[in-house]
Amino acid sequence: MKVTKTGDLKFIQEWNRFLILNIIRREGPISRSEIAKLINISPTTVTTAVTEMIREGLVAEVGSGTSRGGRKPILLQFVPDSKFLIAVSIKISSISIARMNLHAEIKRKESYSTGGRIGRDFIRFVISCIDGFLSRESDLERCLGISISCPGIIDQQKGSVRYNSKLDWKNVPLVHIVEERFGMKTWLDNDANAMALAEKNFGAYKNSDHLVHVTVGDGVGAGVIANGQLFCGHGGGAGEFGHICIDPEGEPCECGNTGCLENYAAWTAARRRIVEKLADGRPSLLREKGGADGSRITIEDFLFALGQKDAIATEVALEISAYLAKGLVSLINMFNPQVVILGGDLFSGNPTLLEHVTRLTRRSIMNVFSDEIIIDGSSFGRDQHLVGAASVLLNDQFRFSLLA
Ligand SMILES: [Zn+2]
Repeated sequence: MKVTKTGDLKFIQEWNRFLILNIIRREGPISRSEIAKLINISPTTVTTAVTEMIREGLVAEVGSGTSRGGRKPILLQFVPDSKFLIAVSIKISSISIARMNLHAEIKRKESYSTGGRIGRDFIRFVISCIDGFLSRESDLERCLGISISCPGIIDQQKGSVRYNSKLDWKNVPLVHIVEERFGMKTWLDNDANAMALAEKNFGAYKNSDHLVHVTVGDGVGAGVIANGQLFCGHGGGAGEFGHICIDPEGEPCECGNTGCLENYAAWTAARRRIVEKLADGRPSLLREKGGADGSRITIEDFLFALGQKDAIATEVALEISAYLAKGLVSLINMFNPQVVILGGDLFSGNPTLLEHVTRLTRRSIMNVFSDEIIIDGSSFGRDQHLVGAASVLLNDQFRFSLLA
């Protein structure tokens, strides 16, 4: 690739801008001269970039610092509410949409049940949910765009969902559809990747350059941060953790293989186990929740029963923990991450499953890894999917993970 001098200069200017904005965001209130010293950039470059950021409203002058002789330096601070974005978290069973600021904080949110829709019907439903949400928004001229996270294999470059069997989607050009309909710039990534970006940009372990985010809910997936960057693979399909084989003689999977982890550890598999166990007549908090065939039992019901030490819920938690740990051992031995975050709806709001999986995983990973690895829950609780969705746009526009 031939890089022109003009191209070089533009790249350097953009890179400096990311560095300066991130220093102000992380260290502010801070003076222009302190920024120049911290990142070894000329004071003129800092002043030019800061003038532009003040004009855009991203940075504000917030008073003056202490002088070491001469004029008191003016201090700068990042303004997270200067702009906002619309985050859209698509799950098989629900869609959440939120107005979020530049710190990925939720200002307003709405959730909608998808009611079992699939295919084109699901696409129409996504559009109608965004339409309804935007109709209740004002000052859209300050909106950076729409940032979507969605399960399945995503082509980030083309902005399309290459494959999602549960939604019956193949090569759906979701970014094009949304941009065409709403005239707003749109971003898209896989939900597990999005949540890995959220942890890297805003989470408790943002200083780690080797982090894996495992998502367990309607499906099972993983987002991998390697050397500080999201690892996407050749066609955007890296991290299909739910489709590693844990039983060669096991159940056939929609992907074409047999014995895939997802069929043993995702919520549908957990619910099937609950229903089987309820059939033997034992008392359980889950019995009255389920309806005749147990189909109305929700993840929240399961996590509540688990918190109450319900015998059937505890058995199922131990069983799916064993399968997840089996998969995690391979993942950890393969990538040697410093941090593994266990997220998704099944890990949200109840520490029991996290404890089981952590204990079983630590027992089986290579001894050399077990002392140094951190296994923890999401930094963002029930809002993790929305913080993830927002992070796709924010990571692309501001490189917040830079210098983290
Ligand atoms: Zn599979």
